Amino acid sequence: MISSDPAGVPESFDPSRMAPWLAGLVLVAGVVGTILLFNGLESVERASLQRYVSNLASYIEADMLTDLREQINAQQRMTARLAHYGLDDRGGWQLNADLYLGHYDYYRALAVLSPELEILWLQSRGARIAEPGEVFPVDEGYRPALARAEVSGELVVTRPTYMPDGRPGISFLLPIGTDKDHVGYLAATMDIPSAIDAMIPSMFRDALDLHAVARGREVYPFPLRRSTTTDWDAGFRVDLDEDEEGFLFEFSLGAATRAQLSSHMPLAVLISGILLSLLLAAVVYLGLSASGQARVLARSNRHLEREIGERETAERELEFLVHNDALTGLPNRSGITVYLAELIERHGSEDGQLALLFLDLDQFKDINDTLGHQLGDQLLCEVPRRLAGVLRDRDFVGRHGGDEFLVVARRDNREQVEQLAGNILRALDGGFAIEDHRLFISASIGIAYYPESGRSVSELIQNADTALFKAKNAGRNQFAVFTREMFAQAQHRLNLSRDIRHALEDGEFRVVYQPIYTVADLNMCGVEALLRWDHRDGYAVPPQEFIRVAEETGIIGRLGEFVLDRALSDLAGWKSRSDRLPWLAVNVSGAQIHEAGFAEQLSVLLHQHRVEPEQLHLEITEEVLIENLARNRRMLHKLDEIGMRIAVDDFGIGYSSLSYLKNFPISVVKIDRGFVRDIVSDPEDQAITRTICTLAAELGMQTVAEGVETEEQLEMLAGYHCTYAQGFLFSRPVPAGEIADMIAGQADGENRSSR
Ligand code: C2E
Ligand code: CA
Ligand code: CA
Repeated sequence: MISSDPAGVPESFDPSRMAPWLAGLVLVAGVVGTILLFNGLESVERASLQRYVSNLASYIEADMLTDLREQINAQQRMTARLAHYGLDDRGGWQLNADLYLGHYDYYRALAVLSPELEILWLQSRGARIAEPGEVFPVDEGYRPALARAEVSGELVVTRPTYMPDGRPGISFLLPIGTDKDHVGYLAATMDIPSAIDAMIPSMFRDALDLHAVARGREVYPFPLRRSTTTDWDAGFRVDLDEDEEGFLFEFSLGAATRAQLSSHMPLAVLISGILLSLLLAAVVYLGLSASGQARVLARSNRHLEREIGERETAERELEFLVHNDALTGLPNRSGITVYLAELIERHGSEDGQLALLFLDLDQFKDINDTLGHQLGDQLLCEVPRRLAGVLRDRDFVGRHGGDEFLVVARRDNREQVEQLAGNILRALDGGFAIEDHRLFISASIGIAYYPESGRSVSELIQNADTALFKAKNAGRNQFAVFTREMFAQAQHRLNLSRDIRHALEDGEFRVVYQPIYTVADLNMCGVEALLRWDHRDGYAVPPQEFIRVAEETGIIGRLGEFVLDRALSDLAGWKSRSDRLPWLAVNVSGAQIHEAGFAEQLSVLLHQHRVEPEQLHLEITEEVLIENLARNRRMLHKLDEIGMRIAVDDFGIGYSSLSYLKNFPISVVKIDRGFVRDIVSDPEDQAITRTICTLAAELGMQTVAEGVETEEQLEMLAGYHCTYAQGFLFSRPVPAGEIADMIAGQADGENRSSR
């Protein structure tokens, strides 16, 4: 996977892969080229050196010949004088010879020989090579040449001989007089190494490795050593007697000289060429790799750019989501805030009324729960379409969350705004056809005006929400305009809810019990648990007041749990005093039963306190029951399965019929106190109460009359066959201990009467 292009770009030729090969090629080519160049330069230099050496050789040769000829000429002049004057003037010759030897200091001896080569006169220097009277040492092989020279007068050059001191010497023999005038020879013996040293200028001599051979014998340099070299740079032959042998001079340039003369250029070229090649190869390698890297870079850049692009899109989407609701595409809370803030800023310069309408669908939760979220979502998407029908182009719709929508509208006056609110309610009232369902919903609207109901966005929204709350409480499907009093109420609610929280923690709540009696024989058969709040400031907060706030703020769940736990624990306590226990009725609010896990919570509590489920009655108000029929049916069946009894509280004021409730697992109907209060005098209350009692009995339900304060009321109820009665006539709500005493007393009474 490493080779795969992370960006998914199609693979193409990548020069960086060729980098080592191309660099190697460059290196080889460079080195080969350099070597060729080096060779070329070297041969050029060699040739130039060769030329130099040849020139030198010619120069030395010419110099040497000139010198030798001069010496030979001098010898010839000497022989000519000897021939002319005869061999009488020995002294003159000796003078002459001394001059000669003084001038040419590399000559060792001059001698006058008889025709038989006997030394007649001798002038010499250094180690003598012979003595007068001796025969001059000449190789026998030279006899014919000497005989010829007698006639021609030509020079005879002898084979080199080694003189007594070991130095090679050579002798020139010139006949004195020819033919019949021939009287002898002049012999001049030369020290060859000294002669060569003298004849070759020292600056050349030092520069050369010189080697000389005369007639096959090594004669130079001295001390003699056989040359191992055969590869001489140059050479020449000196052949004075033209016998085709003569001297062979050969030489090479000395290493130092050669080094001095050579320019070092080839080597410099070689070294720098190889270095250059290496450099070039490195450049090629790096260049190509870099180009490869550049491609990789370019590729990852493209990749990066794409990622940046994607991220930007994602950010734009996110930005959209930050300000817009994903489901409806409408601006969300933050989008609304941004818009409204801008609008408020500009509004100062505009006439008319700026209003924020807070719209909440009634019973949307019900639809969501019974028909599913998908359908609920579709319904939510339909709402803005409906709104579009009654809104103007300049109006603004946003989704505040859940089933809450915000409308920002500008109208000439408040009447127009309130007209708009009415139109919206009507537009939504018509029912929605979604999939196969026909859904009927209504909405409630709270209106906040700028700037009277708030100067900031958050204030406006909060106050519109307060007005909405008012509209909901006033019976839904209507709108309410925010007022200052609402603000005070809202403030109070807020404080109260905070206080409830603290009171729960500080144990300011307690539970009291009001007994419930059978109407027929006045037996205490049950108790209703009622919550009491003894405020730390010394007063009792009425349940109607704080229960409602607790429901609105959601703390009712914890409050309800507290009541259940305490009541069940008290019930368990009474159980130890008597086996004839009253049932325990506990009030449960709508918000409470709809909390997740409510049924499970009940089961756990029952189990903990070892209370039979049948012993527990849950009182649910008629209002809560009919508000959320479908959802409640499911919940009630669940509670019924556990074994608890369900009582409909405050029955009669919600205008629901009992037959409507017959599909619910309801055991007890509690007739609202309002009907009992005037039952003695009001025929209508009598009729309602009687009907409820009759119908309930027919449906297999029992009835409890609430708020029974007088014997007359009780008599009336007995006449209607009401099952149970509860009220101040029997007892006010009392602490658990008093109930325990009542239970014990009742047991005693029964014991007495049975005796
Ligand atoms: P409710 O469920 O209708 O409770 C009966 C109310 O009538 C009690 O008022 C009780 O004291 C009162 N009452 C009983 N007999 C008479 C009578 O003869 N004459 C008059 N005038 N009143 C009588 P309370 O305790 O003030 O409770 C008010 C309401 O607060 C309750 O009405 C109930 O809806 C709610 N409530 C009380 N405790 C709880 C609770 O623990 N949970 C819930 N969710 N609601 C509770
Ligand atoms: Ca009740
Ligand atoms: Ca009641």
